[in-house]
Amino acid sequence: MDVIVIGGGIGGIATAYQLYAAGHRVCVIERHATVAQGATYGHGGPILPSPLDVWFGPTFMGARSAAKTGIVFRPGFDSAARDFAKKLARLREPDAFTAQYARLRPLVELSRRVIDEIEATFGLDCEQRRGVLHVFRRPRELELAAPAIELLRRFEVPHHVLSAAECAAAEPSVPDDPPFAGGVMLDDERTANCPLFTKQLKQILEDRGVQFRLGREVASLHLDDRGAAVDLMPVAGVHYDRVTADAIVVAAGIGTPALVSRVNGKLPLHPLRLHSLTAPIAYEEHAPHITIVDSIKRIAMTRVNQRLRVAGAGVLQSEAKTLKPLPAALADRVFALLGQGTHDWVPGAAKVSAARTWEGLRLLSPDGLPVVGATGHARLFVNAAHGPAGWGLACGSAKVIADLVSGLTPDIPADTLAALRIDRF
Ligand SMILES: Cc1cc2nc3c(=O)[nH]c(=O)nc-3n(C[C@H](O)[C@H](O)[C@H](O)COP(=O)(O)OP(=O)(O)OC[C@H]3O[C@@H](n4cnc5c(N)ncnc54)[C@H](O)[C@@H]3O)c2cc1C
Repeated sequence: MDVIVIGGGIGGIATAYQLYAAGHRVCVIERHATVAQGATYGHGGPILPSPLDVWFGPTFMGARSAAKTGIVFRPGFDSAARDFAKKLARLREPDAFTAQYARLRPLVELSRRVIDEIEATFGLDCEQRRGVLHVFRRPRELELAAPAIELLRRFEVPHHVLSAAECAAAEPSVPDDPPFAGGVMLDDERTANCPLFTKQLKQILEDRGVQFRLGREVASLHLDDRGAAVDLMPVAGVHYDRVTADAIVVAAGIGTPALVSRVNGKLPLHPLRLHSLTAPIAYEEHAPHITIVDSIKRIAMTRVNQRLRVAGAGVLQSEAKTLKPLPAALADRVFALLGQGTHDWVPGAAKVSAARTWEGLRLLSPDGLPVVGATGHARLFVNAAHGPAGWGLACGSAKVIADLVSGLTPDIPADTLAALRIDRF
């Protein structure tokens, strides 16, 4: 089949790869001049979400204060943003959290297999590192993480619950003064450079004949019984450009709801602004060797060669405000949250004053799971809303999409597939 993939982030490139591997002819359309320029560019490092990493559950956004949660929540008078936060808060209840993560888990495992296979097939070097240490300031916070730790046991994820002294011994850049409650070491969880992985995969696809239409924005989709097509926004010298195919996969990140709304109506997905800073290493002996995550604030600190990448500090506000640039005072506040996280957990590791800052938009769903699969039209598929811990998941989802496009049954349980469907809301 001829398949159009809209979006050149990890979601789109991973989907293009799986479709190509399944024998389809693929055309990727991306509005930027190159790939990995959207949320994919700002990744914090961790590849796959353990029960401690997902952006829902008992440890996520338990208060309204950014100093406590690491998330700036500014709904103002916007009832949609408040409703969204209320729905997400239902997953703070331990049983609801456990059931929802259990639905996601098969996709995590499929994603792990898919990424391992790609790395092994092409020998990719994308700054992979092993070991992620989640740290908790207060004993109460560690107690809140108990259902997540129970899930680690249930799914046999290699881990160790550590005292503060054991954390400091495992990663000497973490100071044991002021005292903190302890941590959870995930020995086998990995970090890697997502934009680099995406670009390497794009190159592999291009060399094998996958077509890329870069610097072109999809304006509209056309779907009927006989075929599918997209119209591209005019560019200098080209007023009308239509690309035809047998099927379309929308993996357009924040651009997804607008593209699929004609088929599936308005989706209850909410944009979240996320931030990262990349700072030069200041003192080698203070730089972490494994990734440190402030587990309550969801701030990840990953060493990447001679830099430290710090990501997190989400801002949840009305959709209209999220789509505009942050006011300067609020931007200062979110980057201060990241700076404080670095100071608290890896003091002296990086020159935060010399950091390069970045911000990006992610789509979050009110039940914490991505939107993956078929849609209301047989020729339209979607791979999106992977949230702030979603780059690895986008790779397993790509395999699910390729199976569905090919008329095969995806290798994940039916209840997981149902939990990812676009019409579940
Ligand atoms: C600061 C930050 C830190 C993060 N840290 C992590 C982490 O540590 N671990 C993790 O797993 N995940 C992390 N994430 C989330 C992860 O980056 C995303 O889940 C993932 O990159 C999503 O990829 P995507 O392809 O769906 O979206 P994107 O990367 O946003 O790609 C979508 C693409 O579609 C294109 N597009 C949109 N509309 C159109 C259109 N109409 N026509 C043509 N092209 C279009 C856009 O230009 C864009 O390039 C982080 C995100 C951010 C912002």
